[in-house]
Amino acid sequence: MKIHEYQARDLLSKFGVAVPAGIMVENPVDAGKAFTELAKRHNAKLAVVKAQVHAGGRGKGGGVKLVKTADEAREVARTILSKPLVTPQTGPKGVPVTKLLIAAGVDIEKEYYLGMAVDRVSGCPVLIASSEGGVDIEEVAHTKPDAILREAISPMIGLRPYQARKVAYRLGFRGQQVRMASKIMHQLCDLFLQTDASLAEINPLVVTKPTTEHPDGEVLAIDAKINFDDNALFRHEDIASLADPLEEDKSEAHARRFGLSYIKLDGTIGCLVNGAGLAMATMDLIKLHGQEPANFLDVGGSASEEAVTEAFRIILDDPHVKGVLVNIFGGIAKCDTIAKAIITAADEVGFKVPLVVRLEGTNVDIARKMLDDARSRIPTLTPATDLTDAAKKITSAINN
Ligand code: GDP
Ligand code: MN
Repeated sequence: MKIHEYQARDLLSKFGVAVPAGIMVENPVDAGKAFTELAKRHNAKLAVVKAQVHAGGRGKGGGVKLVKTADEAREVARTILSKPLVTPQTGPKGVPVTKLLIAAGVDIEKEYYLGMAVDRVSGCPVLIASSEGGVDIEEVAHTKPDAILREAISPMIGLRPYQARKVAYRLGFRGQQVRMASKIMHQLCDLFLQTDASLAEINPLVVTKPTTEHPDGEVLAIDAKINFDDNALFRHEDIASLADPLEEDKSEAHARRFGLSYIKLDGTIGCLVNGAGLAMATMDLIKLHGQEPANFLDVGGSASEEAVTEAFRIILDDPHVKGVLVNIFGGIAKCDTIAKAIITAADEVGFKVPLVVRLEGTNVDIARKMLDDARSRIPTLTPATDLTDAAKKITSAINN
């Protein structure tokens, strides 16, 4: 599960991380008021208007703008809210912007990167850090992998003080900065472990320009991205409640309600498969035969007839779908359950596009007979004997 930057900043704050003040708004007038509020309460001389969308690279797409007056904040807010935001991570169509964060602006001396993730190689959480943070971190990771530090974290003990100090010195922090940066590393690590996060990034972590009050500058988090493990959300009601329905794909949310793993894709062949591995193999075969899958869909082992019928409803609801491929290996999932769902879907939704069905495993004979008996109700159905046969049949049905 993903959350917005303004929510991630709140969470960082709860764990003690120093974050500049910010106010979430949903229209230009409130953006102007928020600027005035930040100026009054926090003595902010400048503010940043930031699009709140579940995609990064906003700065590069014009979704992060510095402003110096309330009027400017209002105008910039109007512009950002008026059109979809296109960033290197959104695709060419962009994403709609309905929320903005108006944050107190800071005078940046230098930008760093600090993140926590799960490292599959070492099988434990890892602290990732770089002194070359900011909007080009992906580029740095590709061209200068040595500029990225990694420190494995014990999931039992958490980050140890010597590890934080080591990373802080290697990043080039000096004087009071070492203490401030180490503290943030500990807080970020605690947040990551305690909330069952799968990713927690502060990019950039900044050192502000020195002042008489802070001769070494201050170390602050000015952007945050936190993702959580969906399978652990039942332990964190407060975090689950942060989900933004406006950011979710409707069909994906629909699928989740029925316990289906569904991801919408750009192709034309709808796939209904059981098992993530078989689903990926099926998508590969579709591509091998010159077409693109319209979705990833794993109905799982324990799928009920109702859930599978909903799965067909979701697939057939997508106007890009020109054909459907069903590929089921009946183990725990029984082939006759799938056959029943196909027949129900045919009656309730109707297959106007070609449907190729490959069934194998538990109760396959019963399932084949059911489908055979129902042929007149599903005229577009073609049975297939194996995976390749199925992929060939659906691609040629579409091509004709
Ligand atoms: P992202 O592009 O989606 O990662 O959005 P960020 O919040 O990271 O902002 C992008 C860039 O805008 C940062 O790397 C900074 O260079 C700049 N920026 C963001 N907030 C401030 C601020 O308060 N002051 C200054 N001077 N620059 C900022
Ligand atoms: Mn950022």
